[in-house]
Amino acid sequence: MIRILNRLIKKHLSKLSADQGVKNFITDIEDVFKQQKEEKEFMERTLTLSFEELNQINASLKDNLAKNRENHRKLEKIVAKQNALFDASTEAVFSFSNDSVIEKVNQAGIEFLNISLDEYDENEVHTCDLFMARIANVDKFNHDIDEIRHNSDARIHGFFDTVDSKHYEYYSVPEVVDGDFIGRVWCCRDITNIRENEALLKHQANHDALTDLPNRVMILDALNHAISLSNRHNTLVGVLFIDLDDFKKINDTAGHHEGDRYLIEFAQRVKSALKNGDIIGRLGGDEFVVIVEGINDVLDIIQINERILALCEKPFYIKDKKYYMSCSVGVGISPDDSVDAEELIRKADMAMYQAKKSGKNTYHFFDDKLDKIALESVLLESQLREAINNDEFILHFQPKFELENGNICGVEALIRWQKTPEQLIYPDDFIPAAEKNGLIRDITYWLLEKACKTMVSWQNTSMANIPMSLNISALDFSDLNFTTQVISLIDQYQIDSSLLEFELTESIFFDDIVQVQQTIATLKSRKIKISIDDFGTGFSSFAYLRDIDIDYLKIDRSFVQNFHQDRKSHAIVKSIIDVGINLGVEVVAEGVESELEMNLLAAEGCHIGQGYFMSKPVNEKALCTFIEQRL
Ligand code: C2E
Ligand code: CA
Ligand code: CA
Repeated sequence: MIRILNRLIKKHLSKLSADQGVKNFITDIEDVFKQQKEEKEFMERTLTLSFEELNQINASLKDNLAKNRENHRKLEKIVAKQNALFDASTEAVFSFSNDSVIEKVNQAGIEFLNISLDEYDENEVHTCDLFMARIANVDKFNHDIDEIRHNSDARIHGFFDTVDSKHYEYYSVPEVVDGDFIGRVWCCRDITNIRENEALLKHQANHDALTDLPNRVMILDALNHAISLSNRHNTLVGVLFIDLDDFKKINDTAGHHEGDRYLIEFAQRVKSALKNGDIIGRLGGDEFVVIVEGINDVLDIIQINERILALCEKPFYIKDKKYYMSCSVGVGISPDDSVDAEELIRKADMAMYQAKKSGKNTYHFFDDKLDKIALESVLLESQLREAINNDEFILHFQPKFELENGNICGVEALIRWQKTPEQLIYPDDFIPAAEKNGLIRDITYWLLEKACKTMVSWQNTSMANIPMSLNISALDFSDLNFTTQVISLIDQYQIDSSLLEFELTESIFFDDIVQVQQTIATLKSRKIKISIDDFGTGFSSFAYLRDIDIDYLKIDRSFVQNFHQDRKSHAIVKSIIDVGINLGVEVVAEGVESELEMNLLAAEGCHIGQGYFMSKPVNEKALCTFIEQRL
């Protein structure tokens, strides 16, 4: 363009004089154009340069973008993998925020919460309450995890049970980002199967595989425990070593399989003869051990021995064949024979050999003295059975007197056992045994019926309308049939039941108090009077005096005898009389042996007296004479 302009100027100005000014003007224009050209060239160079740089930058950006995309893909892969791992975990995993909101939970965690996967809405806010609702013993759990409340860095580990009886092991670790605590992760593992297997293994280690009874290891353990408890409570522990008689014969004739069945059935039978808390174990072969805890009297052991021997009286059926089998029992008693479990079993084993030696199907105590007692007790039991069948009991009667005026106000019926015409046995010598062996039920029935018959025979005589009190054992009282029997006898004999009085000892209140109340209410509905016998010697709780509707309190004769000479007995007698007066209950003093005692009792306000001073217990004929003389 400059060149065109230059030519045009030269063409048009050539005719003009070569004026210096015009020349300069042209030169200036040329300079301007030159400069412009240079600038343009510079610009063009600069533009070329920037474009290249831009291209470079663009290329580098593209590169970075590609790398970022790749990284992103990698990260996504990692997160997906982690999520899959998280959900595939059989452990319940929870991530809690600082304010105890569940921020993340895996599938096992949702299942742990007892929510179905479809129902769980991730967008809803779930707090740790959902988690806590699953824990069985929340107080214990809170106590166990207390550390994390004071120390957010704490990593803890422990165990809990769920409300549906599963066992869990847990780990809890803090979640920290750039040094900031942002929450906590909990991993909970279901260890129910592990625990069950552990329990099973423990059970197998402690039990006999055939009968599932405790084995020697566990028997020794239980026996040691029983011995130390009995030491503390001052009671006895009995160990019965049982060995089947001629068990080998069964194995030899019927085979081992049938022998095994026999052992299992024998174990079940023995179990059924024991009380809750008694333990039966198998030492191996045909040897069993029974541990009887918390007994006060060897009579209890004698009863169990008898029951075990009686179990064998029923036949066992093996392959439809009837077998009669017996066993021999040896007994060791702790602490008398030993306070060491192994030694006690050894001694019971030795006693068992004695039983075998003396003809099998019997029992022996390690201590010979006890064998004598056992013999007597068993003899007594069989004789008592005969006494019931042969009607060998009789009643004596002891009158009771109103202390105010000396009038007879009733009689107490006292049982005696006329064993032979010459031998009269008093109740203290057979009632306790009858209570132990259960014969008391029959004796009480006899007593009730005899009392009814006697009252019928007294009708239309001077003895009519005399109240009669009967001693009823606590065992009778806890028998659900007792009241039915009483009522049916009253109806059968058509007696005036308001003349009947039942003397009960405080031991009836050891039983279910509601049942005692019901029994008393039933008796009272027939106007039968209730008296608390031997008051002051039992556990004398005032609670039952409040809760139970009684008519008489009988002061035990141990307080009455010589009470005027003993300051403490006097205080007790006076207090019982006061309690009776304040409760509106009549007080009877038994065992009054002197006029002085009788007068003092009357002076203290006691209502009724009974004792050798007024009359000993006498037979029916003597009672009639006694009463007629006083009319
Ligand atoms: P218990 O109910 O305390 O009966 C009073 C006992 O004290 C009677 O003895 C009686 O003979 C005796 N006794 C009465 N007055 C005096 C006295 O002034 N001095 C002395 N030292 N003793 C006196 P028993 O007849 O030998 O009866 C003893 C226990 O046997 C009775 O004590 C009672 O718990 C029980 N018992 C008596 N008969 C029966 C009965 O038919 N069934 C039941 N389950 N137990 C009975
Ligand atoms: Ca009595
Ligand atoms: Ca008494």
